[in-house]
Amino acid sequence: MEIKLKTRAKVNFSIDVVGKRDDGYHLVEMIMQTIDLYDLITLGDAPGKGITLTCSSSIVPSDARNIAYKAAALLKDMFGVEKGIKIDIEKRIPVGAGMAGGSCNAAGVLVGLNKLWNLGLTTEELKQLGLKLGADVPFCIEGGTVLAQGIGDKLTTIKDVKDVWIVVCKPNFSVSTAEVYKSLKLDNMGTRPDTERLLGYIEKGDIKALAGGMANVLESVTQSRYSVISHIKDKMMHQRALGSIMTGSGPTVFGIFKNFEDAHKAESRLKQMWEQTYLVKTENRGVEFNEG
Ligand code: ATP
Repeated sequence: MEIKLKTRAKVNFSIDVVGKRDDGYHLVEMIMQTIDLYDLITLGDAPGKGITLTCSSSIVPSDARNIAYKAAALLKDMFGVEKGIKIDIEKRIPVGAGMAGGSCNAAGVLVGLNKLWNLGLTTEELKQLGLKLGADVPFCIEGGTVLAQGIGDKLTTIKDVKDVWIVVCKPNFSVSTAEVYKSLKLDNMGTRPDTERLLGYIEKGDIKALAGGMANVLESVTQSRYSVISHIKDKMMHQRALGSIMTGSGPTVFGIFKNFEDAHKAESRLKQMWEQTYLVKTENRGVEFNEG
């Protein structure tokens, strides 16, 4: 039997850091949004007892370092599954981009193997397991428009931000999320988002106000090393974006647009300079079985 899934990327409408735990984890408040940029994962039975992973991207490890591999190993160990499994990942989401590309693959493997191996886990149980793999994994399982608090694990689903056109643009390098958080100075984080206010805009469906109020405290850290971040933001605004910020720890920058025409024009322009530029729409599902 074979199972195919779409595992979708995210952007952050906001990231705020509100404290730090004794164990070093940052306490965050962020608004996450699934977008319709996805990797395709195929899961299938394999001879033997092991895990075999193939990935279309040569810069992603295809051994036990791959977070999708780790997700399969976790379920195998917990449930004593003796069967072999092969995982194939067709990468479309840019790697090391701040769009949860790895985390959503892990989410897809958890959801897919729960079905393939008839484990009977609920979505809540899958999310709990996902947290062992990474802070963004629980969000990636369901996706949509979500407020994440705690270390990113306390999730509250909010009103969907539906059918909004977004352009994402990744410059040609990657950053390490852990290093960005390490360099963040809690007493000097630059512009912080007003999360309550942004939630109000989402509730009212006021996309223009949402776009204008977006902020990410990690942006100043990444921007201080790579000035291209503000360069891309300027280009987005010049192309009539309603607002533009960096997503996650970067380096990807995205802009929200009023309509398809504006977004499409911006995409064409930015693509001339940064090849990894995509025109996407907001989505309300993270992992989805790909029946077609
Ligand atoms: P996040 O937004 O969750 O911080 P990201 O989008 O910035 O994640 P990823 O694309 O998940 O970053 O990749 C981060 C690192 O993880 C890369 O160095 C990559 O080699 C490694 N990695 C391990 N497994 C995967 C996977 N399945 N897909 C992509 N990267 C993976």
